[in-house]
Amino acid sequence: MNSWPDIAIPPIDQKFFFPPLSIFDSATKKLSELPVKDTYRIYVCGITPYDATHLGHAATYLTFDLVNRYLRAMGKSVIFVENVTDIDDPLLERAKRDGVDWEDLAHSQIELFRGDMTALRVIPPDSYIGAVESIPLVISAVESMMKSGVVYDLEGDKYFATESDPAFGSRSHLSREDMLTISAQRGGDPLRPGKQDPLDALVWMAKRPGEPSWSSPFGEGRPGWHIECCAIALEYLHPDPKESFLIDIQGGGNDLIFPHHDIGASQAFALGKKPYSRNYMHAGMIGLHGEKMSKSLGNLLFLSTMILEGIDPMAIKVALINRRYSQDYMWNDDALAQAQDLIGRLRLLLSRPEVPPTDLIIEEIIAHLSNDLDTPAVFAALKRWCDQSETGGIGGSPGELSRALDTLLGISF
Ligand code: ZN
Repeated sequence: MNSWPDIAIPPIDQKFFFPPLSIFDSATKKLSELPVKDTYRIYVCGITPYDATHLGHAATYLTFDLVNRYLRAMGKSVIFVENVTDIDDPLLERAKRDGVDWEDLAHSQIELFRGDMTALRVIPPDSYIGAVESIPLVISAVESMMKSGVVYDLEGDKYFATESDPAFGSRSHLSREDMLTISAQRGGDPLRPGKQDPLDALVWMAKRPGEPSWSSPFGEGRPGWHIECCAIALEYLHPDPKESFLIDIQGGGNDLIFPHHDIGASQAFALGKKPYSRNYMHAGMIGLHGEKMSKSLGNLLFLSTMILEGIDPMAIKVALINRRYSQDYMWNDDALAQAQDLIGRLRLLLSRPEVPPTDLIIEEIIAHLSNDLDTPAVFAALKRWCDQSETGGIGGSPGELSRALDTLLGISF
Protein backbone atom coordinates (compact mmCIF):
# COMPACT_ATOMS: atom_id res chain seq x y z
CA MET A 1 0.00 0.00 0.00
CA ASN A 2 1.29 3.49 -0.77
CA SER A 3 2.29 5.46 2.28
CA TRP A 4 2.48 9.26 2.13
CA PRO A 5 5.06 11.46 0.39
CA ASP A 6 8.61 11.22 1.63
CA ILE A 7 10.06 14.10 3.62
CA ALA A 8 13.53 15.57 3.15
CA ILE A 9 15.26 15.48 6.52
CA PRO A 10 18.08 18.00 6.85
CA PRO A 11 21.38 16.51 8.01
CA ILE A 12 22.55 17.52 11.48
CA ASP A 13 26.15 18.52 12.12
CA GLN A 14 28.10 15.61 13.56
CA LYS A 15 29.73 17.97 16.09
CA PHE A 16 26.61 17.33 18.21
CA PHE A 17 26.83 14.41 20.61
CA PHE A 18 23.96 11.93 20.62
CA PRO A 19 23.59 9.89 23.82
CA PRO A 20 22.01 6.44 23.37
CA LEU A 21 18.22 6.64 23.33
CA SER A 22 16.53 5.54 26.56
CA ILE A 23 12.87 4.63 26.44
CA PHE A 24 10.39 3.34 28.98
CA ASP A 25 9.74 -0.34 28.31
CA SER A 26 6.14 -1.24 29.20
CA ALA A 27 7.06 -4.92 29.50
CA THR A 28 9.77 -4.50 32.15
CA LYS A 29 8.31 -1.23 33.47
CA LYS A 30 11.82 0.23 33.42
CA LEU A 31 13.71 2.85 31.51
CA SER A 32 15.87 0.95 29.07
CA GLU A 33 18.73 2.18 26.94
CA LEU A 34 18.69 0.98 23.33
CA PRO A 35 22.02 -0.62 22.48
CA VAL A 36 24.07 1.42 20.03
CA LYS A 37 24.10 -0.44 16.71
CA ASP A 38 23.70 0.19 12.99
CA THR A 39 20.10 -0.80 12.32
CA TYR A 40 16.90 -0.56 14.37
CA ARG A 41 13.64 -2.33 13.57
CA ILE A 42 10.45 -0.58 14.62
CA TYR A 43 6.88 -1.79 14.19
CA VAL A 44 3.99 0.53 15.01
CA CYS A 45 0.38 -0.60 14.92
CA GLY A 46 -1.61 1.51 12.52
CA ILE A 47 -5.20 2.61 12.26
CA THR A 48 -8.36 0.70 11.49
CA PRO A 49 -9.68 3.03 8.80
CA TYR A 50 -13.29 3.59 9.79
CA ASP A 51 -12.90 7.12 11.13
CA ALA A 52 -10.53 9.98 10.37
CA THR A 53 -7.36 10.59 12.37
CA HIS A 54 -8.31 12.03 15.72
CA LEU A 55 -5.85 13.73 18.04
CA GLY A 56 -5.20 10.50 19.93
CA HIS A 57 -3.99 8.75 16.79
CA ALA A 58 -1.91 11.78 15.85
CA ALA A 59 -0.21 11.84 19.27
CA THR A 60 0.74 8.16 18.96
CA TYR A 61 2.28 8.47 15.49
CA LEU A 62 4.08 11.68 16.47
CA THR A 63 5.66 9.83 19.40
CA PHE A 64 7.16 7.12 17.22
CA ASP A 65 8.17 9.71 14.64
CA LEU A 66 10.35 11.30 17.35
CA VAL A 67 12.06 7.95 17.93
CA ASN A 68 12.55 7.46 14.19
CA ARG A 69 13.98 10.98 13.84
CA TYR A 70 16.34 10.63 16.81
CA LEU A 71 17.83 7.36 15.58
CA ARG A 72 18.20 8.66 12.01
CA ALA A 73 19.80 11.88 13.28
CA MET A 74 22.33 9.65 15.09
CA GLY A 75 23.24 8.37 11.63
CA LYS A 76 21.58 4.98 12.12
CA SER A 77 19.41 2.97 9.76
CA VAL A 78 15.82 2.55 10.84
CA ILE A 79 13.45 0.07 9.28
CA PHE A 80 10.02 1.39 10.19
CA VAL A 81 6.92 -0.65 9.42
CA GLU A 82 3.29 0.28 10.06
CA ASN A 83 0.11 -1.55 9.18
CA VAL A 84 -3.40 -0.49 8.42
CA THR A 85 -6.12 -2.90 9.50
CA ASP A 86 -8.24 -2.53 6.38
CA ILE A 87 -10.41 -5.56 7.18
CA ASP A 88 -11.74 -6.09 10.69
CA ASP A 89 -15.01 -6.22 12.61
CA PRO A 90 -15.20 -2.49 13.51
CA LEU A 91 -14.71 -1.48 9.87
CA LEU A 92 -17.42 -3.87 8.64
CA GLU A 93 -19.78 -2.78 11.43
CA ARG A 94 -19.31 0.92 10.61
CA ALA A 95 -19.78 0.33 6.86
CA LYS A 96 -22.99 -1.61 7.55
CA ARG A 97 -24.28 1.06 9.93
CA ASP A 98 -23.63 3.84 7.41
CA GLY A 99 -24.79 1.82 4.39
CA VAL A 100 -21.49 2.23 2.55
CA ASP A 101 -19.12 -0.22 0.92
CA TRP A 102 -16.46 -1.29 3.42
CA GLU A 103 -13.65 -0.92 0.86
CA ASP A 104 -14.78 2.60 -0.09
CA LEU A 105 -14.94 3.54 3.59
CA ALA A 106 -11.43 2.16 4.20
CA HIS A 107 -9.94 3.90 1.15
CA SER A 108 -11.45 7.26 2.02
CA GLN A 109 -10.22 7.12 5.63
CA ILE A 110 -6.74 5.94 4.63
CA GLU A 111 -6.54 8.89 2.24
CA LEU A 112 -7.44 11.30 5.07
CA PHE A 113 -4.84 9.66 7.31
CA ARG A 114 -2.16 10.09 4.66
CA GLY A 115 -3.05 13.79 4.40
CA ASP A 116 -2.93 14.21 8.19
CA MET A 117 0.47 12.50 8.50
CA THR A 118 1.84 14.67 5.67
CA ALA A 119 0.57 17.85 7.36
CA LEU A 120 2.25 16.80 10.62
CA ARG A 121 5.53 16.00 8.81
CA VAL A 122 5.57 12.41 10.03
CA ILE A 123 8.26 10.43 8.20
CA PRO A 124 6.43 7.82 6.11
CA PRO A 125 7.08 4.18 7.06
CA ASP A 126 9.44 2.16 4.89
CA SER A 127 6.60 -0.31 4.50
CA TYR A 128 2.96 0.64 4.98
CA ILE A 129 1.04 -2.59 4.76
CA GLY A 130 -2.66 -3.32 4.68
CA ALA A 131 -4.26 -6.36 6.27
CA VAL A 132 -5.86 -7.35 2.98
CA GLU A 133 -2.58 -7.32 1.09
CA SER A 134 -0.95 -9.32 3.90
CA ILE A 135 -3.45 -12.21 3.73
CA PRO A 136 -0.93 -14.54 2.00
CA LEU A 137 1.53 -13.80 4.85
CA VAL A 138 -1.13 -14.55 7.46
CA ILE A 139 -2.04 -17.81 5.73
CA SER A 140 1.56 -18.97 5.73
CA ALA A 141 1.96 -17.90 9.40
CA VAL A 142 -1.15 -19.88 10.37
CA GLU A 143 0.11 -22.91 8.41
CA SER A 144 3.45 -22.70 10.18
CA MET A 145 1.79 -22.45 13.60
CA MET A 146 -0.52 -25.37 12.76
CA LYS A 147 2.57 -27.46 11.97
CA SER A 148 4.11 -26.61 15.31
CA GLY A 149 0.86 -27.47 17.08
CA VAL A 150 0.07 -24.07 18.59
CA VAL A 151 -3.10 -23.50 16.55
CA TYR A 152 -6.31 -25.51 16.89
CA ASP A 153 -9.63 -25.68 15.10
CA LEU A 154 -12.99 -24.64 16.53
CA GLU A 155 -15.90 -25.03 14.10
CA GLY A 156 -13.74 -23.96 11.17
CA ASP A 157 -12.13 -21.02 13.00
CA LYS A 158 -8.45 -21.29 13.91
CA TYR A 159 -7.24 -20.26 17.35
CA PHE A 160 -3.76 -19.63 18.70
CA ALA A 161 -3.18 -21.44 22.00
CA THR A 162 -1.81 -18.82 24.38
CA GLU A 163 -0.52 -21.49 26.79
CA SER A 164 2.11 -22.42 24.19
CA ASP A 165 4.12 -19.36 25.25
CA PRO A 166 5.31 -19.43 28.87
CA ALA A 167 5.88 -15.66 28.61
CA PHE A 168 2.25 -14.92 27.68
CA GLY A 169 0.97 -12.22 30.01
CA SER A 170 4.44 -11.02 31.00
CA ARG A 171 4.20 -7.95 28.79
CA SER A 172 0.97 -6.63 30.27
CA HIS A 173 1.21 -7.45 34.00
CA LEU A 174 -2.53 -7.98 34.39
CA SER A 175 -4.41 -10.32 36.65
CA ARG A 176 -6.24 -13.16 34.95
CA GLU A 177 -9.53 -11.49 35.83
CA ASP A 178 -8.48 -8.19 34.22
CA MET A 179 -7.21 -10.04 31.13
CA LEU A 180 -10.61 -11.67 30.69
CA THR A 181 -12.46 -8.37 31.09
CA ILE A 182 -10.18 -6.41 28.75
CA SER A 183 -10.12 -9.18 26.17
CA ALA A 184 -13.91 -9.00 25.89
CA GLN A 185 -13.76 -5.20 25.54
CA ARG A 186 -11.07 -5.21 22.85
CA GLY A 187 -12.17 -7.64 20.18
CA GLY A 188 -11.60 -10.95 22.01
CA ASP A 189 -14.23 -13.67 22.60
CA PRO A 190 -13.38 -15.12 26.03
CA LEU A 191 -16.93 -16.40 26.53
CA ARG A 192 -17.02 -18.54 23.39
CA PRO A 193 -17.60 -22.18 24.36
CA GLY A 194 -15.11 -24.78 23.18
CA LYS A 195 -11.94 -22.71 23.40
CA GLN A 196 -8.99 -24.41 25.12
CA ASP A 197 -8.37 -21.18 27.04
CA PRO A 198 -10.77 -18.21 27.05
CA LEU A 199 -7.87 -15.90 26.11
CA ASP A 200 -6.85 -17.84 22.99
CA ALA A 201 -6.86 -15.61 19.93
CA LEU A 202 -8.52 -16.03 16.58
CA VAL A 203 -5.92 -16.23 13.81
CA TRP A 204 -8.30 -17.18 11.00
CA MET A 205 -12.03 -16.57 11.03
CA ALA A 206 -14.06 -18.87 8.76
CA LYS A 207 -16.38 -17.03 6.37
CA ARG A 208 -19.44 -15.49 7.99
CA PRO A 209 -22.58 -14.96 5.88
CA GLY A 210 -22.56 -11.59 4.10
CA GLU A 211 -18.96 -10.80 5.02
CA PRO A 212 -15.93 -10.58 2.71
CA SER A 213 -13.66 -13.62 2.64
CA TRP A 214 -10.53 -14.96 0.99
CA SER A 215 -9.61 -18.53 0.15
CA SER A 216 -7.01 -20.42 2.15
CA PRO A 217 -5.86 -24.04 2.53
CA PHE A 218 -8.08 -24.18 5.62
CA GLY A 219 -11.17 -22.74 3.96
CA GLU A 220 -12.69 -19.39 3.05
CA GLY A 221 -12.29 -16.72 5.71
CA ARG A 222 -10.33 -13.71 6.87
CA PRO A 223 -7.38 -13.01 9.19
CA GLY A 224 -7.54 -12.37 12.91
CA TRP A 225 -6.21 -9.05 14.14
CA HIS A 226 -3.12 -9.93 16.22
CA ILE A 227 -1.66 -12.33 13.66
CA GLU A 228 -1.86 -9.65 10.97
CA CYS A 229 0.70 -7.48 12.79
CA CYS A 230 3.07 -10.40 13.57
CA ALA A 231 3.02 -11.63 9.99
CA ILE A 232 3.69 -8.14 8.61
CA ALA A 233 6.42 -7.36 11.17
CA LEU A 234 8.31 -10.60 10.59
CA GLU A 235 8.16 -10.21 6.81
CA TYR A 236 8.95 -6.54 6.34
CA LEU A 237 11.32 -5.87 9.25
CA HIS A 238 13.70 -8.62 8.11
CA PRO A 239 14.80 -9.79 11.59
CA ASP A 240 18.55 -10.26 11.86
CA PRO A 241 19.48 -13.85 12.84
CA LYS A 242 22.42 -12.47 14.85
CA GLU A 243 20.16 -10.41 17.14
CA SER A 244 18.65 -11.81 20.33
CA PHE A 245 15.27 -10.22 19.59
CA LEU A 246 13.28 -10.30 16.37
CA ILE A 247 12.70 -6.53 16.43
CA ASP A 248 13.73 -3.55 18.58
CA ILE A 249 10.51 -1.67 19.30
CA GLN A 250 6.88 -2.71 19.19
CA GLY A 251 4.87 0.46 19.48
CA GLY A 252 1.32 1.71 19.64
CA GLY A 253 -1.22 3.33 21.89
CA ASN A 254 -1.42 2.00 25.47
CA ASP A 255 -4.83 0.50 24.70
CA LEU A 256 -2.92 -2.10 22.65
CA ILE A 257 -0.79 -3.45 25.51
CA PHE A 258 -3.37 -6.15 26.12
CA PRO A 259 -4.42 -8.26 24.39
CA HIS A 260 -2.94 -7.07 21.09
CA HIS A 261 0.74 -6.75 21.96
CA ASP A 262 0.92 -9.52 24.52
CA ILE A 263 -0.70 -12.09 22.25
CA GLY A 264 1.17 -10.69 19.23
CA ALA A 265 4.48 -11.25 21.03
CA SER A 266 3.49 -14.84 21.87
CA GLN A 267 2.53 -15.53 18.26
CA ALA A 268 5.74 -13.95 16.95
CA PHE A 269 7.69 -16.15 19.40
CA ALA A 270 5.92 -19.22 17.98
CA LEU A 271 6.85 -18.13 14.45
CA GLY A 272 10.30 -16.63 14.96
CA LYS A 273 11.53 -18.95 17.75
CA LYS A 274 13.01 -16.13 19.80
CA PRO A 275 11.69 -13.24 21.92
CA TYR A 276 9.77 -10.77 19.78
CA SER A 277 10.65 -7.22 20.76
CA ARG A 278 13.48 -5.70 22.76
CA ASN A 279 11.14 -2.92 23.94
CA TYR A 280 7.41 -2.37 24.11
CA MET A 281 6.73 1.32 23.90
CA HIS A 282 3.28 2.80 24.40
CA ALA A 283 1.79 6.23 23.98
CA GLY A 284 -0.84 7.53 26.38
CA MET A 285 -4.41 8.28 25.39
CA ILE A 286 -5.65 11.78 24.64
CA GLY A 287 -8.79 12.95 26.38
CA LEU A 288 -11.17 15.87 26.01
CA HIS A 289 -13.35 17.55 28.65
CA GLY A 290 -12.32 15.08 31.32
CA GLU A 291 -12.91 11.90 29.34
CA LYS A 292 -10.88 9.70 27.00
CA MET A 293 -11.47 10.58 23.34
CA SER A 294 -13.51 7.77 21.94
CA LYS A 295 -15.95 7.07 19.20
CA SER A 296 -18.58 5.86 21.62
CA LEU A 297 -18.48 9.11 23.62
CA GLY A 298 -18.51 11.16 20.42
CA ASN A 299 -15.84 13.55 21.75
CA LEU A 300 -13.30 13.14 18.97
CA LEU A 301 -11.34 16.05 17.57
CA PHE A 302 -10.29 15.29 14.01
CA LEU A 303 -7.02 16.58 12.70
CA SER A 304 -8.31 17.13 9.16
CA THR A 305 -11.17 19.30 10.49
CA MET A 306 -8.83 21.39 12.64
CA ILE A 307 -6.47 21.96 9.70
CA LEU A 308 -9.43 22.95 7.50
CA GLU A 309 -10.42 25.46 10.19
CA GLY A 310 -7.03 27.10 9.63
CA ILE A 311 -5.15 25.86 12.70
CA ASP A 312 -1.44 25.52 11.96
CA PRO A 313 -0.58 21.79 11.96
CA MET A 314 2.80 22.65 13.55
CA ALA A 315 0.98 24.22 16.51
CA ILE A 316 -1.26 21.15 16.85
CA LYS A 317 1.90 19.06 16.76
CA VAL A 318 3.66 21.07 19.48
CA ALA A 319 0.54 20.99 21.66
CA LEU A 320 0.35 17.20 21.28
CA ILE A 321 4.00 16.42 21.94
CA ASN A 322 4.64 18.96 24.71
CA ARG A 323 3.84 16.26 27.30
CA ARG A 324 5.36 12.99 28.48
CA TYR A 325 4.26 10.70 25.66
CA SER A 326 3.52 7.74 27.92
CA GLN A 327 1.07 9.63 30.12
CA ASP A 328 -2.59 10.04 29.29
CA TYR A 329 -3.31 13.67 28.55
CA MET A 330 -6.29 16.00 28.50
CA TRP A 331 -6.34 18.13 25.33
CA ASN A 332 -7.05 21.79 26.07
CA ASP A 333 -7.23 25.08 24.24
CA ASP A 334 -4.60 26.69 26.49
CA ALA A 335 -1.98 24.18 25.35
CA LEU A 336 -2.84 24.93 21.73
CA ALA A 337 -2.66 28.70 22.33
CA GLN A 338 0.76 28.32 24.02
CA ALA A 339 1.97 26.15 21.13
CA GLN A 340 0.79 28.74 18.60
CA ASP A 341 2.62 31.42 20.57
CA LEU A 342 5.88 29.43 20.66
CA ILE A 343 5.71 28.62 16.92
CA GLY A 344 5.11 32.32 16.17
CA ARG A 345 8.05 33.42 18.32
CA LEU A 346 10.41 30.84 16.81
CA ARG A 347 9.31 31.67 13.27
CA LEU A 348 10.09 35.36 13.86
CA LEU A 349 13.40 34.81 15.64
CA LEU A 350 14.69 32.25 13.18
CA SER A 351 14.07 34.63 10.28
CA ARG A 352 16.52 37.12 11.84
CA PRO A 353 20.07 37.29 10.49
CA GLU A 354 21.52 37.38 14.02
CA VAL A 355 20.52 35.36 17.05
CA PRO A 356 22.32 34.41 20.27
CA PRO A 357 24.38 31.19 20.28
CA THR A 358 22.45 28.11 19.14
CA ASP A 359 24.82 25.18 19.79
CA LEU A 360 23.81 24.89 23.42
CA ILE A 361 20.07 24.80 22.75
CA ILE A 362 20.56 22.13 20.07
CA GLU A 363 22.65 20.08 22.51
CA GLU A 364 19.95 20.48 25.15
CA ILE A 365 17.21 19.34 22.76
CA ILE A 366 19.21 16.22 21.86
CA ALA A 367 19.96 15.40 25.51
CA HIS A 368 16.31 15.79 26.57
CA LEU A 369 15.05 13.66 23.68
CA SER A 370 17.53 10.91 24.58
CA ASN A 371 15.89 10.77 28.03
CA ASP A 372 12.71 8.91 27.08
CA LEU A 373 11.66 11.72 24.71
CA ASP A 374 11.46 14.37 27.42
CA THR A 375 9.67 16.86 25.17
CA PRO A 376 8.37 19.10 27.99
CA ALA A 377 12.04 19.81 28.83
CA VAL A 378 12.74 20.41 25.12
CA PHE A 379 10.01 23.03 24.83
CA ALA A 380 10.88 24.64 28.17
CA ALA A 381 14.46 25.05 26.88
CA LEU A 382 13.20 26.48 23.58
CA LYS A 383 11.06 29.01 25.46
CA ARG A 384 14.09 30.09 27.50
CA TRP A 385 16.08 30.48 24.28
CA CYS A 386 13.28 32.64 22.82
CA ASP A 387 13.17 34.81 25.98
CA GLN A 388 16.91 35.34 25.75
CA SER A 389 16.91 35.93 21.98
CA GLU A 390 14.15 38.52 22.08
CA THR A 391 16.45 40.78 24.08
CA GLY A 392 19.04 40.57 21.28
CA GLY A 393 22.31 38.73 20.93
CA ILE A 394 24.65 37.42 18.27
CA GLY A 395 26.85 34.43 17.56
CA GLY A 396 24.21 31.79 16.74
CA SER A 397 23.10 30.20 13.52
CA PRO A 398 19.36 30.56 12.92
CA GLY A 399 19.66 28.22 9.92
CA GLU A 400 21.29 25.50 11.98
CA LEU A 401 18.65 25.71 14.72
CA SER A 402 15.85 25.69 12.09
CA ARG A 403 17.32 22.59 10.53
CA ALA A 404 17.77 20.89 13.92
CA LEU A 405 14.11 21.56 14.83
CA ASP A 406 13.07 19.98 11.55
CA THR A 407 15.44 17.02 11.84
CA LEU A 408 14.70 16.18 15.47
CA LEU A 409 11.11 17.31 15.95
CA GLY A 410 9.71 17.60 12.44
CA ILE A 411 8.89 21.26 13.06
CA SER A 412 9.24 23.33 9.94
CA PHE A 413 8.28 26.96 9.39
ZN1 ZN B 1 -0.86 -4.27 15.65
